[in-house]
Amino acid sequence: MTIVLKFGGTSVADAAHIREVARIVRARLDRKPAVVVSAHSGVTDQLDRMAREAVTGNVSIAPLAERHFTVLRELGLSTDIAKPLLEQLDALLRGIALVRELSPRTLDHVHSFGERLSCRTVAAHFCAVGVDAFAIDAFDAGLTTDSNYGRARPLPEAEQQIAKTLKPRKGVAVITGYIGRDSEGYVTTLGRNGSDYSGAIFGNALDAEEIQIWTDVDGVMTADPRVVPQARSIPVMTYEEAGELAYYGGKVLHPATIQPAVAKTIPVRVLNTRRPESQGTLIVQSVAEEPAPVTSITSRRGVALMNVQSMRMLDQSGFMARLFDTFGRHEIVIDHIATSEVSVTLSTFGNADLEPVARELSSIAEVTVERNKSAVSIVGRGMRQHGDVVHRALATLHGEKIDPQLITRSALRTSLSLILEESEATPAVRALHREFFKA
Ligand code: ASP
Ligand code: MG
Repeated sequence: MTIVLKFGGTSVADAAHIREVARIVRARLDRKPAVVVSAHSGVTDQLDRMAREAVTGNVSIAPLAERHFTVLRELGLSTDIAKPLLEQLDALLRGIALVRELSPRTLDHVHSFGERLSCRTVAAHFCAVGVDAFAIDAFDAGLTTDSNYGRARPLPEAEQQIAKTLKPRKGVAVITGYIGRDSEGYVTTLGRNGSDYSGAIFGNALDAEEIQIWTDVDGVMTADPRVVPQARSIPVMTYEEAGELAYYGGKVLHPATIQPAVAKTIPVRVLNTRRPESQGTLIVQSVAEEPAPVTSITSRRGVALMNVQSMRMLDQSGFMARLFDTFGRHEIVIDHIATSEVSVTLSTFGNADLEPVARELSSIAEVTVERNKSAVSIVGRGMRQHGDVVHRALATLHGEKIDPQLITRSALRTSLSLILEESEATPAVRALHREFFKA
């Protein structure tokens, strides 16, 4: 029996938070916890800026060193804990400054220092307060990955290596989130915000009975509380719903996060470090209780719509293949899609460069691109039982004089997405929340 607790950047932001983390872990010692930590909040961004500065010839690790020394001092720990790594980082940045070149591989190496520093601080504090613990870098704990720098994925053998390394060890393992190492020995990262994914990878490998994601909100909410102040925490939901929500802009979980948990049907619980007593959100394979029609409403800004119109579509096979092929070659991710007899409308991320695709397609179709759209998504396994969600959603938007431009619902019937003007997103989410949650 073991549980994996992952603490995000805000949960280990400073000495006060790290003390709270120790209390949370201590209260769960009977469940044999392993801990995965992020860098102190903001540190990965800072490292990123330092790496890019180094390319221009400037190296200064003083502010970053000071941030870590402050946390250590406030915890009554020696600053020597951080010094060896800071020296390595300094040497690495000087190397970048000399060659004036920053490859994705080197950038991953620079990014890795945040987690490696914070995990040593957290483990040292645990020991200081009497919780037997040791710091370990994910790669020393068996997390080997492929060599896709910036978005590495674990190799199949990682699972066994992790179990073999960590299971026999005594004390609480405090492991770096976000990073791994490829088979050639180079440090890799799993992608920004990848520590949740690390938490799930370690939970999977250790056959955890539960994976706890400790963050700074009361679990997954019925809507973004900054948009809907009355939004409340969702007590229980399915992996499928969590995946859809993460994908559609819910900020709590990284979309890939739950895969390793789902593979072994390990429950994931999202909890608030500042309010450890709150129940948070439990994410599981299936829920026995009768679901409400809607679980959560989310929105994402910066969506672009492309409209492709062509008479050639009429009675012709292969048009779609050509369309998708063009998007595929230009590596543009298609998000939502709706088709009619002579036109296709697709949505994608607004920061994508759509000009090359539009140019290429203009030989076979009339192409227009519209930007500054938002995607509002309604997610809920209950939509399958409750047949009136689409009707209620559209009637609610109609009441707000909002006429969505693109509407999609998958055959799975767990989500309904509406593309509308960016300025309409907030009123839409608020009205839909009132309709489905009476708040
Ligand atoms: N520190 C990394 C980041 O900021 C990973 C994480 O926090 O999950 O992206
Ligand atoms: Mg984070």
